[in-house]
Amino acid sequence: MKSRKLLMIPGPIEFEPEVMQSLAEPTTSHIAPDFVESFGHALEMMREVWLAPSAQPFVVAGSGTLAMDMAASNLVEPGDRVLVISTGYFGERYADLLSRYTRHVDVLRPERGQAANSDQIEGKLQSADYKLMTFTHVDTSTGVMNDPKAIAELGRRYGVLTVLDGVCSLAGEPMRQEEWDIDVAFTASQKAIGVPPGLALLMASPRAMEAWRNRTSPVLNYYADWTNWLPIMEAYANRRPAYFGTPAVNLVKALETSLEKILDEGVDKRFLRHRRIGKAFRSAMKAAGLEMIPSDEAAAANTMSAVYYPDGIDDQRFRQTANAEGVILAGGLLSDIKKRYFRVGHMGSTGAGDLLATVGAVESALRKTGYSIEPGCCLRAAQEVLGAQ
Ligand code: PMP
Repeated sequence: MKSRKLLMIPGPIEFEPEVMQSLAEPTTSHIAPDFVESFGHALEMMREVWLAPSAQPFVVAGSGTLAMDMAASNLVEPGDRVLVISTGYFGERYADLLSRYTRHVDVLRPERGQAANSDQIEGKLQSADYKLMTFTHVDTSTGVMNDPKAIAELGRRYGVLTVLDGVCSLAGEPMRQEEWDIDVAFTASQKAIGVPPGLALLMASPRAMEAWRNRTSPVLNYYADWTNWLPIMEAYANRRPAYFGTPAVNLVKALETSLEKILDEGVDKRFLRHRRIGKAFRSAMKAAGLEMIPSDEAAAANTMSAVYYPDGIDDQRFRQTANAEGVILAGGLLSDIKKRYFRVGHMGSTGAGDLLATVGAVESALRKTGYSIEPGCCLRAAQEVLGAQ
């Protein structure tokens, strides 16, 4: 029997074999011509995946939190007022992080399960003079998805820079950075972009770069400072080596491979595949009579799902049972309801086969831990969506 289990948590995810092969190549010097070419090529392809031909890419060794920190530390100065739209754990993290750079951090918290609505945001923007607002495209603790286009439109109208935390969405959910006029959009490698953990990936619009150039005080984070990284990114883009901090050579090679695969599939096709997979999973949970944290379909992410247990199901037993069936699922992340729900990542390379295996394991674990449902009801519902054209 195959001993490997399917890793269906919201990151890290299952990675493509070619990506893992790139990682296993012998490490070269960061100034070797083939590495310079790979890095430059990866930076070029980021512009295509983010749909942001004029944006400035940054690829830095670190996790998604570093990308959050990079946007905050480069764009916020002491005294600036910022607005955080928080739809879960990572919104709260952003508020905490931003408070290291300014004392004026306001937080807008839609009701749990709901995406931010434009009227609420506009009310906030009218109430004070904000320099920047952040929002989480998909909050990984709740599976709630915000509408980047509508939020960025408000940002433009009120002259506020918009920062999209795309760690759980980018390369999975539709995001058109330039067309929608989003100033910063970032992610981490281990999610839908499809590379093992270790890279922070960020794109800054010309307006964001201008705001950074117009600072009157130094950036308060040495490692994240664009002053250090911009010349490096520009050099590699022009196929010249440069050094500030040693690049994660193998991860950058793996990033090149994964971006090539994403572009081979086509970003729009990829968005549609995620939508179909997400919908199939939600339909399966509905067939079992389970509730999700997102209040409705429009607020539900396609890259992952957060599902409430029915009464009486024990979180640990449920996930251990699913694990024994070959599928690794994640528990809850919000502290007050941690044991009351589970999370499933279905992003990146996830296709119909992996999704059906996951739905099968969830259904079986529900039954084995005491929830009475008709065998096959979840699988049938998922298959109906997957089979529909
Ligand atoms: N934002 C979101 C939406 C996330 O899902 C995560 C990670 N789960 C982060 C930020 C932080 O990323 P990391 O754990 O890689 O630091």
